Amino acid sequence: MSKVWLSSPHMGEKEQEYVLEAFRTNWVAPLGPNVDAFEKQLSDLLSVNEAVSLSSGSAALHLALIVLGIKTGDVVLCQSFTFAASAFPINYCNAIPVFVDSEKDTWNMDPELMEEAITDQIKKGKKPAAIIVVHLYGMPAKMNQIISIAEKYNIPVIEDAAEALGSTYENKACGSFGKIGILSFNGNKIITTSGGGALVSNDKDIAAKVRHISAQAKEPAPYYLHKETGFNYRLSNICAGIGRGQMEVLTQRVERRRQIFDLYKKELKQIDGINFIEESANSFSNRWLTTVIFDENHFKPGTNEQVRQLLEKHNIESRPLWKPLHQQPVFAENKSYCNGVSDQLFATGLCLPSGSNLTDEVVTKVIDEIKSFVK
Ligand SMILES: *Cc1c(COP(=O)(O)O)cnc(C)c1O
Repeated sequence: MSKVWLSSPHMGEKEQEYVLEAFRTNWVAPLGPNVDAFEKQLSDLLSVNEAVSLSSGSAALHLALIVLGIKTGDVVLCQSFTFAASAFPINYCNAIPVFVDSEKDTWNMDPELMEEAITDQIKKGKKPAAIIVVHLYGMPAKMNQIISIAEKYNIPVIEDAAEALGSTYENKACGSFGKIGILSFNGNKIITTSGGGALVSNDKDIAAKVRHISAQAKEPAPYYLHKETGFNYRLSNICAGIGRGQMEVLTQRVERRRQIFDLYKKELKQIDGINFIEESANSFSNRWLTTVIFDENHFKPGTNEQVRQLLEKHNIESRPLWKPLHQQPVFAENKSYCNGVSDQLFATGLCLPSGSNLTDEVVTKVIDEIKSFVK
């Protein structure tokens, strides 16, 4: 059997056409019609005033922190259970990441622990300057509570929706709750531009500033005039052409990922001790990756890793859940507010192949391997 990937690019029918169009018109770079159309698709989908397409989700986070005025020594609260790219941009700003653990329902930032972190940091004279909350694996975080606590202390929220395009919470798109939301179109995400990202916001001033500094902060003058530091972070008209085609099939991609989740669940749920994360009544997950937990009361420690190795032997890629950032050597010096939830998830969980281009037959093969192991 050929290699089964965790989550590989899945092109639709129109991507090449939009890219070819850019070649035909020699609008290969820089910005252009594909960029404009892609941004319109994004802002429509999320029902936000502005979407600015950028070279990556990381670039979007970096600019989000900059436009919020994050500077050297500022404390920024960040979900601990996430990919390191959620927090690296805090370091780019010479600010200080402080990590907050997750709750058990959504695996995202625990609102109560978040408030504890805020009040404790305030006591130390280090009121957090921003909060980065993540919708991990596409599962919406408890945004009502998070936003109301953040408002109480007047701290802006940046929503890392890199994995959650197409997910909603109370019928509102993930990425549209915070002061700023960010998206990623990296190769393994639910849709891809081969590499890219976007910053979304309802605040037109924020978007205007991001458009300005993401394109080298050129002031209107015949010569190059700069009043502030610029970045070369814009998405090219070629990549945006891929994104345009991908946006046309996003609904299908979400549907397929959800079907794959349902198939895994139907077959593996029968086994005592294999658990899945469920949506709450008011949330809809794009099910970017299907994850399973091997409950410690039923399985020996390390079962997740043994299953991963078994799958690897059969040319099937699976992956541990994100290693919490408070456990990462690069952040060893950083303060964290923990409750054991993400440590436990990392110790017992596994991400299964979930790409929307996987057939039922291939998913069933993965299921059969797991069943054979637990027997
Ligand atoms: C992928 C990802 C990012 C970074 O996006 P890039 O486009 O790869 O820079 C940030 N946060 C999370 C949660 C991600 O999964």
